[in-house]
Amino acid sequence: MSTVIATRTSAAAPLSPSPLALVREDLRDFAGYRSARSDKLDGRIWLNANESAWLNPADRDGDLRRYPDPQPPRLRAALADLYGCAPEQLLAGRGSDEGIDLLVRAVCRPGADAVLVTSPTFGMYAVSARLHGSRVVDVPLRDEAWGWYCDFAAIAATVATQDVKIVFLCSPGNPTGEPLPREAIAALARQVEGRALVVVDEAYLDYADAESVVGLIAQQRNIVVLHTLSKAHALAAARLGSVIADAELIALLRRCQAPYPLPAPCVELAVQALSVPARAATAAHVADACQQRDTLYRRLQGLSGVRTVYPSQANFLLVRFDDAQCVFDRLLAAGVVVRDLRAAARLDDALRISIGTPEQNAAVIDVLASGQGAA
Ligand SMILES: *Cc1c(COP(=O)(O)O)cnc(C)c1O
Repeated sequence: MSTVIATRTSAAAPLSPSPLALVREDLRDFAGYRSARSDKLDGRIWLNANESAWLNPADRDGDLRRYPDPQPPRLRAALADLYGCAPEQLLAGRGSDEGIDLLVRAVCRPGADAVLVTSPTFGMYAVSARLHGSRVVDVPLRDEAWGWYCDFAAIAATVATQDVKIVFLCSPGNPTGEPLPREAIAALARQVEGRALVVVDEAYLDYADAESVVGLIAQQRNIVVLHTLSKAHALAAARLGSVIADAELIALLRRCQAPYPLPAPCVELAVQALSVPARAATAAHVADACQQRDTLYRRLQGLSGVRTVYPSQANFLLVRFDDAQCVFDRLLAAGVVVRDLRAAARLDDALRISIGTPEQNAAVIDVLASGQGAA
């Protein structure tokens, strides 16, 4: 751990200021929609939400007639336990995508403020900013011989001059596969304190040999972490993501969120998916995926036509080819669909290959090896 952090965590360290100061001024006292569920009333006969008094015949368990709890305590507690935070520090929503969108809308003034991204990176940060009318400032990652380099000093300098209100970092990165150093994230958050939130998207952290930055939030209140059940937990269709942040910021984001964001069947499923045995099964699958990834990494490196395979701590590999188009087409002809990244700046020879079962990965290798020496 760096000396900077050691100083900061010493007994006399003052807490950083509330991140509420970074929220749009016009939203700081925004109450949001007062849903039928938000009033803490106690009754026997509920006639306040215009729900039907009769069940839908498809609703066999009789659970779906009522509007759902906006943030079911059981789900919040299970997610907080999973990610190592307090329930008040967590907001569940429809995937991390909703978390990204909420953050942009709550923090950036449309037409005025900017978000900062480090390309190549996950596309939704820029999509949300664009939809909201916010500028996107790019401080590109540098593709060095030893891996992708995130220029934290350049990020801090850009925040200071460009009205950047949110820095989006992805760790491990999509599509780079590499985690960012935790000390550097902490130092950046300290440098941009009072100016910007530092949002760290940990969608792939389960696959990494790296520690979450959730534990930094208590000291550094402008750090926000995104998590999702879409990848390691294999529940992409349930649409469940989490924003983890300072409790005051979470309370504000909650008031900006849709009134009933979480469908009851998805909540029920997620609670079951976070039971002790289910979490153990998930951990075993993640270990398998990591092993498969490392095997595929070694095999790809030996193939001619492969320019670079980046070391990955996620559930995919980023690969540069001499002829990416040809490889993409050959894989497709064999029924294997990979992500074509060639439209992205500096990735015009690159494909992203998600880690599959051993059989699926063998199919990838078969196709690539069969092209060896072909014209
Ligand atoms: C897949 C992915 C997500 C997940 O988004 P959801 O909306 O939760 O499905 C988030 N961030 C990154 C970087 C991803 O690649």
